[in-house]
Amino acid sequence: LKFRLKGYVEFSKDITLLESKIDAIVTKEINTLLFKRGVPKGKKGAKITRWRLKGNKLMLTIEGSRYLRPHDALLRLRTFFTERVGKNLKIGVRAIFIKDYSIQYLPSKKPEDKVEVRVPWIKELRVKDNELLVKLQNLDASAIQNRYVERILSRINEKIQAKEYIGKSERWELLWQSPKKEIAWDKDPTEEMEKRGWIKRIAAGEWLHTPIPARLMRTMQEIVRLYLLEPLEFEEVFLPKMVPLEVWLRTGHMPGSANVFYYVSRAKKWSLNEWEDLFDYIKVTGQIPSELLKEKLTAPIGGMCFAQCPPFYWFFEKKLVPDDELPIKVWDSSGTSYRWEAGGLKGLERDTEFHRIEVIWMGKKAQALEIKDQLMERYEYIFNNILDLEWRKAWVVPWYMEQAGETDFEEKKEIGTVDFEAYLPFRGSRENSEWLEFQNLTVAGTKFSEAWKFKTTSLREVWTGCTGIGLERWMIAFIAQKGLEPEEWPTKFREIVGKLPREIKTI
Ligand code: ATP
Ligand code: ZN
Ligand code: MG
Repeated sequence: LKFRLKGYVEFSKDITLLESKIDAIVTKEINTLLFKRGVPKGKKGAKITRWRLKGNKLMLTIEGSRYLRPHDALLRLRTFFTERVGKNLKIGVRAIFIKDYSIQYLPSKKPEDKVEVRVPWIKELRVKDNELLVKLQNLDASAIQNRYVERILSRINEKIQAKEYIGKSERWELLWQSPKKEIAWDKDPTEEMEKRGWIKRIAAGEWLHTPIPARLMRTMQEIVRLYLLEPLEFEEVFLPKMVPLEVWLRTGHMPGSANVFYYVSRAKKWSLNEWEDLFDYIKVTGQIPSELLKEKLTAPIGGMCFAQCPPFYWFFEKKLVPDDELPIKVWDSSGTSYRWEAGGLKGLERDTEFHRIEVIWMGKKAQALEIKDQLMERYEYIFNNILDLEWRKAWVVPWYMEQAGETDFEEKKEIGTVDFEAYLPFRGSRENSEWLEFQNLTVAGTKFSEAWKFKTTSLREVWTGCTGIGLERWMIAFIAQKGLEPEEWPTKFREIVGKLPREIKTI
């Protein structure tokens, strides 16, 4: 590692009166004492190699090593001068600032192509002499204190690792597969339901469901209640559906899914006076002036429910959970979820607005894993004996590991995601078509309890897990295999669904 920093210490007054003393201060007090502190014997610490007084600034070049990085040396200088000139001369240190900072090192993995990290503090990033050269600029005291330098270096490292990871084929491992089922139907459920007027698209990926599909999805929910939530004693909660961005900052969904959220803004000013021009414009033109409207709104303060469980972990922030209160088992189905799926939108199996039951549990590690097994067993019963589906289970890399570019999954198999996939005959053959992930189950280990800093009263770690049951996806998986005619449906399902409501007819 090679470090070279150019910057300055700024004082509250002109310090040219120090002109005659500064050389001695730098060589005798700083380089030989202050910058040697804590550095192992025989190793290089940091050193001011050039200095110059200019008005109320001390301009500096600092070279450093891994034992004392120049930006940490600069923080030391601030304290040093506060004491040194503050007491005798009544001069304060007003600021410290890095104008240019070059760091050259051998990265743990060599980048295969150009790495880019786009933040204003990076001036240049390139390979030089087989090493990585990072040139930083304009870092002030708060940037240094908040460890931007370290965070920039780890972000670069993360990107190098991620490039490596994306190159390999996706991590997907078949765990179990049901026997083949006779194919009763091979039509696209969305198209057929649209033809019958059961559903109608109001916007991309957003549908109105008339009584029949509503009944089908409620039946799915009823099956989950009867065969999973009640026997396993999960309790219902209502989780907030408009999520403050800070919550996602903790889970990593922000920035991980920043391009998929629906963001929420509100009026900058509440007073109707401020909206008068918009009213006038609409009354006169009959149109909505979207640019004008945009000006009246705040930057996004939150987003619409995306993953459902995050606000539940937030509830436990910095709390201790009594050991004998664990495990905690809840479910939420109090509102819709929203995602911008862009080009992926086609049928009901991928929506902008969708309905999902989110099942969440937390406990000690053994409890969390036991609940996972119980849930898996219940799911198998439902898919095999009630819905009679052709489906399979696969272990996949959880979203947060994928985004962090992690590659060592093998020893992490206890943690991770199981995708449940159903064969959709209308998409083609079993072998060559994409199966539908109709739900999944994740054991997240301590990811969320660490993010929100909660433990048990005996100070043991808390493991969490969640499983998202997509009602549209259950319905599509079922209809795609069984068709739209109730007589063709499995008996157990028919008992629960009852007599279907009448279609709403229009001409
Ligand atoms: P996919 O890979 O199909 O996009 P995902 O991995 O993004 O799914 P998760 O984020 O794990 O899905 O969400 C959990 C569950 O929520 C899914 O298994 C599915 O049932 C449901 N779900 C997710 N996105 C949608 C969507 N756009 N439309 C309908 N249901 C969805
Ligand atoms: Zn979840
Ligand atoms: Mg997705």
